[in-house]
Amino acid sequence: MQRRSLFETTATLGLGALAGCALPGNAARDAKTPFDVPVTYVPIVGSDMMFPVRRIYCIGRNYRAHAIEMGSNPDREPPFFFQKPTDAIQNVAPGTVADHPYPTLTKNYHYEVELVAALNKGGRNIPMGSALGHVYAYALGLDMTRRDLQRAMGDEKKPWEIGKSFDKSAPIGPLHLVGQTGHFTQGGIWLKVNGQTKQNANLNQMIWSVAEQISKLSEAFELMPGDIIYSGTPENVGPVVRGDVIECHIDGLPNLSVKIV
Ligand code: MN
Repeated sequence: MQRRSLFETTATLGLGALAGCALPGNAARDAKTPFDVPVTYVPIVGSDMMFPVRRIYCIGRNYRAHAIEMGSNPDREPPFFFQKPTDAIQNVAPGTVADHPYPTLTKNYHYEVELVAALNKGGRNIPMGSALGHVYAYALGLDMTRRDLQRAMGDEKKPWEIGKSFDKSAPIGPLHLVGQTGHFTQGGIWLKVNGQTKQNANLNQMIWSVAEQISKLSEAFELMPGDIIYSGTPENVGPVVRGDVIECHIDGLPNLSVKIV
């Protein structure tokens, strides 16, 4: 019943209504709760259905040259992960330039272009050999970062949260089903600011593949359908200011663009 009203709402308003990631809550309310909390969805290309996001995992320092620029040793460090809140998602439709708000508290706001894997199967201790069978779809995403706050907290051995896990810190394009695109184990990944190339690498330069990330993550957490994984950014991360336009690309996916406002 609620699903039907949801889709009718979506169909009426179009994908533009997803800009804030949560759907308008005009479906009949569940009387067991005092108010509604919106669910975060990401559109699925070629489908009327949308992907409900349960958790957002992100891997840190997953490209050798980026690990070095962040001051760590890429040869010895096991993979590590952090999370963003689910409602950090900012849906960005291909062919549009979405306004992305410059966040509070920072003077050094960084882009990180990343491949995102979306899971429709969960599990614990998932073997690497079968891990890609848990991936439902892929998208292009940005792991936006308040770098000054991330660094300051790191220097003080405090949690990174304020640098990484804030409102709208996870712009994302629509999901593309694995059945249509195959798995993304190689291919160009780049990011431009105002037309100038800043990041330019290949997905095959990841230290830990998507399959390895799923396997490792599932040792620490029980993965569930609806989990998505930001798979790390290549080198040459850098700052943007208000007015800048970020365009990013992964071979086989439509480009994603946002304007910092
Ligand atoms: Mn990242």
